[in-house]
Parts: sequence; C-alpha cells; structure tokens
Amino acid sequence: MKKGLLLCVCQGTCPSFKGMDIFEVLNTIRREKLVDFVSIHPQLCADDGDEFLNTLMSNKEVDRLFVAGCDPRMQQKMFRDAFNKAGFNPEKHFAVDIRNMTTEQAIETIKKLISEK
Ligand code: SF4
Repeated sequence: MKKGLLLCVCQGTCPSFKGMDIFEVLNTIRREKLVDFVSIHPQLCADDGDEFLNTLMSNKEVDRLFVAGCDPRMQQKMFRDAFNKAGFNPEKHFAVDIRNMTTEQAIETIKKLISEK
C-alpha cells in the first residue's frame, strides 16, 4: 500500500504560501523517501481539484494521503465528496496547515505528521 503527499497552495497567489519554497518542501520529503509520491495542486477545493482527488484516490493502492495546505477541518469538509465518490476512507486523509510558514517550518511540520501516522 502506498502513501502520498499533496501540497495545495491556493493558486500560488495567496500570501500565506509566499514565505516558503514549495518545491524545496517536496524535494526534502522525496529525498528522505518519507512517502511513495508527492504532488502539488493549485486549488484542490475547486471542481477540478475534486476530480483530481477522485481520480487519484480511486486507485485502491493508495492507503494514506497527507495534504499540506489550509486548515485541517476545512480540508475534511471540502474533500469529503471526492473521497466518498472514490470510495476512500476519509480517516486515512491526514491534513496539516502550513500557511504562513517558512520552508524549514513546513518541512518539519509535514515530517512530524508523517511520522505520527
Ligand atoms: S484546499 Fe485549502 S489550500 Fe487548497 S486552494 Fe482550497 S483553501 Fe487553498
């Protein structure tokens, strides 16, 4: 079973993500092989974000999905329909808020989340 990390960045225009290098965040997690795959999506809460999550999570090999972006409760509400449609257990979605962090803070926050799950 696979685990993956998605970064969602409010279209890349939100000031909340300006303090970090999002590619360096993902590269660090990749280099340390903490997950099986990583990706960035500009707006998972838009209609095509639903489609992205539905398509990705319909692959039953994905067991755990970490999403670093906005508030975890917001993520749970916004992604619920897509996960339901894909038949993915929402309890295997682990969300973390990385807004207004530096690159190093975001990396450490994501690492902590992954190590606890
Ligand atoms: S899911 Fe959250 S981080 Fe992603 S675009 Fe929507 S509000 Fe922004």
